Amino acid sequence: MPFEKVDLFVIGGGSGGVRAARIASGHGAKVVVAEEYRMGGTCVIRGCVPKKLLVYASRFAHEFEDAAGFGWTVPEPTFDWPTLIANKDREIARLEMAYTSNLERAKVAIVKERAVLEDAHTVRLVTSGMRYHAERVLIATGGTPHHGADIAGLEHVISSNEAFHLPELPKRILIQGGGYIALEFAGIFAGLGSDVTVVYRGDNILRGFDEDVRAHLRIEMEKRGIRIITRQTVTDVEKVDRGYCVGLSDHKSFVVDRVMFATGRSPNIKNLGLENVGVALGETGGIAVDEHSRTSVPNIYAVGDVTNRINLTPVAIREGHAFADSLFGGKAIAVDHDDVPTAVFTEPEVGVVGLTEVHARASLARVDIYKTSFRPMKATLAARDTRSFMKLVVDGTTDRVVGCHIVGPEAGEMIQLVGIAIKLKATKAQFDSVMAVHPTAAEELVTMREKAASYHQEAAE
Ligand code: NDP
Repeated sequence: MPFEKVDLFVIGGGSGGVRAARIASGHGAKVVVAEEYRMGGTCVIRGCVPKKLLVYASRFAHEFEDAAGFGWTVPEPTFDWPTLIANKDREIARLEMAYTSNLERAKVAIVKERAVLEDAHTVRLVTSGMRYHAERVLIATGGTPHHGADIAGLEHVISSNEAFHLPELPKRILIQGGGYIALEFAGIFAGLGSDVTVVYRGDNILRGFDEDVRAHLRIEMEKRGIRIITRQTVTDVEKVDRGYCVGLSDHKSFVVDRVMFATGRSPNIKNLGLENVGVALGETGGIAVDEHSRTSVPNIYAVGDVTNRINLTPVAIREGHAFADSLFGGKAIAVDHDDVPTAVFTEPEVGVVGLTEVHARASLARVDIYKTSFRPMKATLAARDTRSFMKLVVDGTTDRVVGCHIVGPEAGEMIQLVGIAIKLKATKAQFDSVMAVHPTAAEELVTMREKAASYHQEAAE
């Protein structure tokens, strides 16, 4: 069978690969994308998008309860999981079609097959056996959930992939992990009415986030009835009559209807033929790349979660776009991975950008901390016991705001905008010069006058 020649062969039809393909084609390149599962990748098919739809669903419970304080009488609401899942699936199918048609409009060829590398320029489709000669190859195969050590009964454990397709809402669920996915799903299931237990191996959830954020979120999640067990791991899972019996390292056990692990994701590097061509891996297990996403093989590039840099969809999209502009558009662009804003869609939400207090104190000579905790206005009439939290981390030498940490409603929306100010190197004085929008929660970001703490080197003043 003759080889088809292409300028760019992209392996993986997720956020990074699709963006790279579309932009490269726009620059005149002949491009093929291979995807073995569904177009759109993790974010669209079984990640950010369906997750956010479930988050929306879960928040109605509080809305119904809170309505009473505002004079509404809401009949006892009922919830139907199959309706939610069917509607979510319809929306995901629509988005998958949109991804496909956008690529087709951009004149990118799509092959729905697994592709592997035979040598630096030869890509083979596994099912059809067809081969391509590619001038350049982009690996954008993303990541996959990993469950850690092989404990007894691991076959009973689900990941977020299966959580999106459960036939029924579990009455009781135990989730292992203390990161994004564990906590987001804890909020989803608790909001929808499940009894939720989170088991985390460390001292407190959300390792790597600001200590105040970690403490505040834990309290708020516990107020919503989520049981958070720290310094424990799941040691075994046994199928029993009434569900699954989950053993913990302290020898306690729980019987639940579902056991989910959200213990991180590994780069999808297996059986791609990387060893055939000598593509090197980095220390974190992802494909090693330079600032232009180039691997150790000069014509092979990699973007997104498979590189295990910052595993967020917008980062993968930026990397894919920069790759295509650099290689096919004649403008060499390196992605700036500093000060990436991010949100955790827990209940309440978390939004953060820049340095935590601990990181700032470790890297800056002077650090000023401003923080506030307050009851959101809506909670007053609703008589809901909840507080929001905001913190600004300021470089005491330059007055630049170097970090912002928010826990509360719409934290994700707020942090996107604060991210602009931080990227523009705004100072605390410039934050303060902005007129407040009243009454909002975000106004606190421009009205925090009193320093909560001030540090010079290691010693607190
Ligand atoms: P995270 O890395 O965020 O969290 C993994 C959690 O599992 C951590 O608490 C970790 O503990 C714990 N863990 C890891 N290995 C084990 C083990 N062997 N036994 C017990 N616990 C373990 O990964 P997630 O799976 O939650 O999410 C993957 C990535 O996807 C995120 O890092 C993020 O980049 C992205 N994501 C982003 C979202 C968003 O932007 N809103 C939403 C969902 C995912 P420890 O902290 O001690 O290492």
